[in-house]
Amino acid sequence: MAPTCPETVRGSRPMTRSRFGCRNCKLRKVKCDESKPRCKRCASFGVICNFRLDVLDLQPVTRDPAMYAFQVVRQGVLQPPPSSSVWTTDGSNFYQLNSKCQEFVTRYLGRSLITPDDPRMVQVNRRLLALAFANPFLMHASLAVAFAYDRHLSRSSGCRPSVEECYHWSQSTALFNRRLNKLIETKDKDPIWGTAAALAVLSFSTPDAITPEKSWPLKPSEPTDLEWLRMNTSKMSLWRIADPLRPDSLFRVMATTFAQMNSPLPEKGICDMLIPLAQVCSLEDSSTTENNPYFKAAHAVSQIQRLPNRQVTVGQTEVFTRSIHGPFKSLLQRKDPIALLLMYLWYRKAGRSIWWIELRARVECPSIFSYLRLYHRGYTTVHAFLPGGALAAWIEENP
Ligand SMILES: [Zn+2]
Ligand SMILES: [Zn+2]
Repeated sequence: MAPTCPETVRGSRPMTRSRFGCRNCKLRKVKCDESKPRCKRCASFGVICNFRLDVLDLQPVTRDPAMYAFQVVRQGVLQPPPSSSVWTTDGSNFYQLNSKCQEFVTRYLGRSLITPDDPRMVQVNRRLLALAFANPFLMHASLAVAFAYDRHLSRSSGCRPSVEECYHWSQSTALFNRRLNKLIETKDKDPIWGTAAALAVLSFSTPDAITPEKSWPLKPSEPTDLEWLRMNTSKMSLWRIADPLRPDSLFRVMATTFAQMNSPLPEKGICDMLIPLAQVCSLEDSSTTENNPYFKAAHAVSQIQRLPNRQVTVGQTEVFTRSIHGPFKSLLQRKDPIALLLMYLWYRKAGRSIWWIELRARVECPSIFSYLRLYHRGYTTVHAFLPGGALAAWIEENP
């Protein structure tokens, strides 16, 4: 069967996000019903609807202080903080941590959530936690990551972030952007890099949809597809500013991770590559990145596929995400079946060891699988790798 373009198959108009919706709905990536002054989505989510500019993003409706994830107290408006509670402050703004946030700080923030299996990260995280009390944008980002991690643990509740997670995420983004517009000194560099990494994790772990049917690639194409890649790129653009490998950086211990991210892939051929993968990508001894668009991505997938799950690190998984540019990126955007297969294999493998990859893989893997079954059913060499195929068991092997 010839591949069919999904856009021509679908009769009804796809669900699009509302153009005139409130900002909360845009942030939460849900369709706003536009009922004014308060939309129904915000009411049911428990936040103050914000068509108006003077209402902050994702403010909880409740007046019950126990429900406040975080209380914002601007200097001069309220009394100075009582000494018994926990605060984060940059000297001009004070943020009080309520009991739930304090619990999250105790439970998660001293640990490495982004790279849980890396013992070197224990020290990094302790020092980052100390910095979070003096850099509210980092505290908000860290709390949002902790809430995302909770989302990973409670598998049943789907992928939609909670009101608290959205709130901390949006607060962090707003404060972070404000901070980046000011003069950056050496002492600011570590909190900036820590926040950039956390924001990239948040955008990766929050897919646009919670069901495979509404998720990429099954949903109709939109310019915002693969938006998480853009976040990754903007994180890397902060590299120059934060310089995480400078001698006094607390991230210096991660030099191996950074080296893995940039680890050179073979320049030519299929040496070390899994043979079935080379075959499906039409790679051979003379292949290079210039004559085969799958070259880098296939090598990157092959490298992690060979490793036991416990040995798959963030650095190694990023070799693949960094291969998504140029012709391979265009193929992925056009939903090319081989590019989708490589993405699928990467999700399956990386999602087993890295929780924030799992959160996106949870919806996008079944979505890729259904897409390939629907529109490329006759592509037997691709289907061999997918559930029910001859190579499926080999791919799902769990060393
Ligand atoms: Zn709305
Ligand atoms: Zn609203």
